[in-house]
Amino acid sequence: MTISKSDPVLSVVVPLYNEQDNIFTLVERIDLSIRNIGLTFEVILIDDGSSDNTWQNIQVACNQYPQVRAIRFSRNFGHQHAIFAGLKLAKGQAIVSMDGDLQHPPEVIEKLVNEWKAGAKIVNTIREDKEAAGPFKRYFSKQFYKIFSVLSDLPLEKGSSDFRLIDFKVRDEIISFGDVDIFLRGAIQWVGFDVKQVKFTASTRHQGSTKFTLGRMIKLATGAIISYSTVPLKIGVWIGAITSILSFIELGYTFYIYTQGVAVPGWASTIGVTSLLFGVLFFNIGIIGIYLARIHKSLQGRPPYIISEDYNADRKGH
Ligand code: UDP
Ligand code: MG
Repeated sequence: MTISKSDPVLSVVVPLYNEQDNIFTLVERIDLSIRNIGLTFEVILIDDGSSDNTWQNIQVACNQYPQVRAIRFSRNFGHQHAIFAGLKLAKGQAIVSMDGDLQHPPEVIEKLVNEWKAGAKIVNTIREDKEAAGPFKRYFSKQFYKIFSVLSDLPLEKGSSDFRLIDFKVRDEIISFGDVDIFLRGAIQWVGFDVKQVKFTASTRHQGSTKFTLGRMIKLATGAIISYSTVPLKIGVWIGAITSILSFIELGYTFYIYTQGVAVPGWASTIGVTSLLFGVLFFNIGIIGIYLARIHKSLQGRPPYIISEDYNADRKGH
């Protein structure tokens, strides 16, 4: 990317899905926080196919604040794609992504910028929440980070989120990814560069309710794992090898007993072992199916998201 003098120093990218009651407070607090730092900036709002008045309120905010630009997806394509679209549009030398429900306090941006000015190309945040998420969600996300780190060899700390700052050089690498199901936390770990971390306390949601139901969380977690690991595909080989060895020993034993004139009794154990192995077999076929579905999806070559409208999308920052 070539940087022009009229471009802003900082871009702030915010995905929004049914966040009508958060927009004005959000824009106001971002505006105030960055004015305090004294940098030129732009805010890019992405309406991820909301069904409430998010898009109407975004337009009002755009008219009120000349630094705000917005795009609207033709339907809901998901949080990761919305951030990705924002990264593509951003013109800043550093780009901050954050949630639109004010759980990521805009006041933390200053700390991110300081680390960037000191030389970091990626500034991640670690959430130190006690109350912001329920116990189930915290447990689920902790387990996910553990499993992801083991399977992908990319260490992801618990409390990671998509609240971070990246230099435009990192941005240029990330937007060249052709993943059909982008998982930004993984992509950021994968690209390398100088990374710093900033801790923050997450607030509770300003208005509205969470968009991440259990089903969506599972979808994000499995998508992330199959993007960055092929270990699950190989589980079958190990289970197959171990069970083959065990059955071999068992058959040898049965044959030996038979030569001694005794038949090993027990249909129950036979059926038990057979059903266990069938279970293992179907589980493994299922895993192969998940990967196959991903290959199928990428071969179709459909766009990962569609932008239906934009508002001041080409306006320069101030
Ligand atoms: N979001 C989005 N598309 C979606 C779901 C969520 O753009 O399909 C946005 C949402 O509006 C918010 C951010 O992603 O700005 C994080 O979502 P949420 O606060 O619901 O997640 P949580 O904080 O509960 O994990
Ligand atoms: Mg939230």
